[in-house]
Amino acid sequence: MTTAAEAVAASNAKAVVKASAGGDQGIDAGLIWFNGKIVPQEEAQVSVLTHALHYGTSVFEGIRAYSTSRGPAIFRLHEHTQRLFDSALILRMPVPFSQDEVNRAILDTVRVNNWPACYVRPLIWRGGQTLGVNPLPCPVQAMVATWEWGAYLGDDAINKGARLITSAWVRLPANAMPGKAKAGGNYVNSVLARMDAVSAGFDEALLLDQSGFVAEGTGENIFFLKKGVLHVISHSVNLEGITRASVMQIARDMGLEVQEVMATRDQLYAAEEIFMTGTAAEVTPVSEIDYRPIGSGKAGPISLDLRQRYLKAVTGQDTRYEHWLTYVNV
Ligand code: PMP
Repeated sequence: MTTAAEAVAASNAKAVVKASAGGDQGIDAGLIWFNGKIVPQEEAQVSVLTHALHYGTSVFEGIRAYSTSRGPAIFRLHEHTQRLFDSALILRMPVPFSQDEVNRAILDTVRVNNWPACYVRPLIWRGGQTLGVNPLPCPVQAMVATWEWGAYLGDDAINKGARLITSAWVRLPANAMPGKAKAGGNYVNSVLARMDAVSAGFDEALLLDQSGFVAEGTGENIFFLKKGVLHVISHSVNLEGITRASVMQIARDMGLEVQEVMATRDQLYAAEEIFMTGTAAEVTPVSEIDYRPIGSGKAGPISLDLRQRYLKAVTGQDTRYEHWLTYVNV
């Protein structure tokens, strides 16, 4: 005889298996750091009455661990953790762990999963307590998940250059959403733009700000080359990309002049080269925007050169950037 409670438990267990087997695009995150403990993916569960699920009250990071000759290394760990805590501060979320504890959680999670290289997703969110809009009574929870993730926009986008379309969705002004916070709720804007771009057969969306100036991709910052000068879209409503800062440094070190500018979409159309940067996208050349070929209509040579230099830096093959790496097994 099965009690009602047993039946519910059995049905939940089945749902969990189903969700982890396919519901999350089949993400295999192995072991997850969940509020201070390392647990199997199936056990890292939250309630459907989680505040963040209803109102987007979460902050997160996207980090990569790269395979190096000294084992996996996290790229710019401290900068990512700092941005995570800045995002939490902006959303008034008291994080129940220190930055050191989060750094250790990230290193431990990569180590216990034995990934040679992986993507790292720390997430901090408001849990369930009340479902009023005010999140302040809700407990703050945290997790770190890791999984293997290749070229974010696909290998074709790297070799041939990505095809972009300007989105009808506009990046939210700074007095509507905190663009400097990597907050869950902000990403509804990115999700809308990305769905439209992908459904229309493009690799990525280009988002403009409220005044029509180029803002960013749905998860990437934008660079363009004009008259041999490397231009990077200045900060306004954009996320301050860590890849962006790294590539600016690498470009200056190779002798390129780098300028931060505001730009319009038509300035991009007439650029010699364009590329996007982001932790997931790394350095991805752009070959077309709004049906106009950029430069030769292929991945540009300087974009590809910067991509190679970036990949050398992140994998410990360029000692000038060694200080950007935190080795997992030390
Ligand atoms: N803009 C947005 C909206 C993003 O989501 C990302 C990815 N984090 C970036 C820019 C690039 O930032 P980073 O180089 O730090 O990954």
